[in-house]
Amino acid sequence: MTDRSNLKKTDPDIYRILEAEDKRQEDNLIMIASENYVSKAVLEASSSTLTNKYAEGYPEKRYYNGCINADGVESLAIERIKKLFGAKAANVQPHSGAQANMSVMMSQLDAGDTYIGMNLSHGGHLSHGSPVNFSGKYFNVAAYGVTEDTNLIDYDALNKLAKEHKPKMIIAGASAYPRIIDFNKFKEIAHSVGAKLLADIAHIAGLVAAGEHPSPVGLADFITFTTHKTLRGPRGGVILCDEAHEALINKFMFPGTQGGPLMHTIAAKAVSFKEALEPEFAVYQKQIIKNAAALADVLTSGGLKLVSGGTDNHLILIDLRNKGVTGKDAANRLDEAGITCNKNGVPFDDKSPFVTSGIRLGSPALTTRGLKEDDFRRIGKLIIRIITNMEDDSILAKVKGEVEEICKTYPTDFLRI
Ligand SMILES: *Cc1c(COP(=O)(O)O)cnc(C)c1O
Repeated sequence: MTDRSNLKKTDPDIYRILEAEDKRQEDNLIMIASENYVSKAVLEASSSTLTNKYAEGYPEKRYYNGCINADGVESLAIERIKKLFGAKAANVQPHSGAQANMSVMMSQLDAGDTYIGMNLSHGGHLSHGSPVNFSGKYFNVAAYGVTEDTNLIDYDALNKLAKEHKPKMIIAGASAYPRIIDFNKFKEIAHSVGAKLLADIAHIAGLVAAGEHPSPVGLADFITFTTHKTLRGPRGGVILCDEAHEALINKFMFPGTQGGPLMHTIAAKAVSFKEALEPEFAVYQKQIIKNAAALADVLTSGGLKLVSGGTDNHLILIDLRNKGVTGKDAANRLDEAGITCNKNGVPFDDKSPFVTSGIRLGSPALTTRGLKEDDFRRIGKLIIRIITNMEDDSILAKVKGEVEEICKTYPTDFLRI
């Protein structure tokens, strides 16, 4: 049990909710592709007294006194992440992936400038130009997507779009794309029109670090990612670039778009980067891919249609249109059975983002929990049983029982500090 005796006394309401959250993460199969379980060491660092410290600026260039320990953790975080990716320069201050993207955009674009990002409804991210986000509100955005027949990125269409719009920047990267992204092609297209390339590897950062997905380092001008997805660190973001862009990126991070950095989080980032440099991390990333592949095989054999026909990475998108089930209903029903995933639009979806025709599944969290291919095959069969028997309460109860059994087999000691 995590010691929350002080919290229990001061705020029994929050205490109760946090205890319930521990239990939720323990009693459900977490298959949200962007989530993971951090280590006890990361949890300890992120609950440290560095949350009390203001450290505006950068190591040895701070605005406040008393930053000696803040400097220590931030310098280590920078050094480790550069080593992990073989990058020349890094900024570890972004509070999130969206903040990292905002800083890069602000450093390269003026209001009204044109850039190209991936269509949100084809797998892109909100912060790549959606009109409801700053990235779409202040800039002129053209969007590329996937082809209707293969569901792979349409590089020819992107090339045409680039020639037509002459963008200042192109963003490569996605939140719901199950295939390898060809950063070489992106670089070629971007540089042929004089555009900068931003590779947003939020989802696949862990895979890239371990060599399980081609790296954009050396190809993209800027690389952004979240630290909390496959990379398995605390919630946050990172920007990588070369030395020539370092000063500008640092300036647009702070004071450009953020105030004081979250130093307790940066300490936790540093810990997770150390973990990612260990050989076991590469084994973990390999297992993520094996598990997703095993799950994809079972789902396909069971008659479910996967976007692009399968997966090369940690995530799977199921297109439910041939089953007459919406993404919203499927995700809610699975959640009732203890399998937590999210509804997700599929390319050329005719349903709204609140309903959708698909669900997205990921293997990172359960792989951390210790599950292997056989477990994922078993879970795949449970998912099929729910989706093909949406109204059947006795099947729901049986699946729920099996989910409980799997959860008991894989304890979550790592949730307690
Ligand atoms: C998750 C994600 C982000 C945003 O990360 P937040 O930490 O939620 O702001 C940005 N880009 C991509 C591609 C993502 O998948």
